Amino acid sequence: MKILEELYHRHLSCTEGHPATYIPELAKANVKNFAIVIATVDGEIFKVGDHDVEFSMQSTSKPFSYGMVLQEMGRDFVMSKVGVEPTGEAFNSIVELEKNTHKPYNPMINSGAIAISSYIKGQSFEGRVQSMTKAFSQFAGHDLRIDDVIFESEKTTAHRNRSIAHLLRHFGVIDGKIEESLDLYFKQCSFMVNTVDLAVMASTLANKGIHPKTKVRALSEDYTGDVLSLMFTCGMYDTSGKWAYSVGIPAKSGVSGAIFGVIPGKMGIAVYSPPINEHGHSVRGMRVFQDLSKELNLSIFRK
Ligand code: GLU
Repeated sequence: MKILEELYHRHLSCTEGHPATYIPELAKANVKNFAIVIATVDGEIFKVGDHDVEFSMQSTSKPFSYGMVLQEMGRDFVMSKVGVEPTGEAFNSIVELEKNTHKPYNPMINSGAIAISSYIKGQSFEGRVQSMTKAFSQFAGHDLRIDDVIFESEKTTAHRNRSIAHLLRHFGVIDGKIEESLDLYFKQCSFMVNTVDLAVMASTLANKGIHPKTKVRALSEDYTGDVLSLMFTCGMYDTSGKWAYSVGIPAKSGVSGAIFGVIPGKMGIAVYSPPINEHGHSVRGMRVFQDLSKELNLSIFRK
């Protein structure tokens, strides 16, 4: 696709942002890596750049675990534990837990996502990881793996997430297995994908929860709608409003430098470039989405 080549070359020379350093393994990322991929609901793939370089999903995993837990536990239970309101705060903020209901505002920020991971069902920790792997793999259309080096790197430095989990326990949002809940969350953040995988996972959301090629249903149509609405209002954290204004599609970013977006009924889009800004979003990724939205008229508000 010509526009992908153009966007790639337009933003290749960008030097803004830095790879995340608070998870030591992420700091090692090659800042030159840059890929843009579109996966349509008909199963077509358009790609440019380093699309086969693998990276950990980080917070791009949150919409998928949210969908999985909605399916396992039902909407009423999930809504009773985690809200659906944007925060206007950073992704790892703790302040909302001190307000009103003491429950996480939404499942796209760390507090909500740690709570969501804690509800994944299973007899044992390994069983819970396996069922998460199965659910995530259905979105991708092949078996995904968890990188244990990244998992350990986050686990040993996650003082802030650990404090969030203890507050969640204090307010009764999660049960007593605090370390296990955190480990599930770190495992989900450590799923390895490349940019094609992420775009295909997005295209499964665009296709009402059915993988375009395998035709396997990864998520019910109804819950797919829940996931997309949360991505739209909360997926870009404290810049979700600006994103709605300038890009206008549901999206989710991760501190490894990935952003994916969903055009319902049409396609999934993923961009990977490790340097991120102060909000935790890939700098090149944001620029590509802004340009792509304008040039392909993707915003749902500007039809
Ligand atoms: N694993 C990261 C954390 O919990 C994810 C943050 C993100 O990707 O935005 O801090």
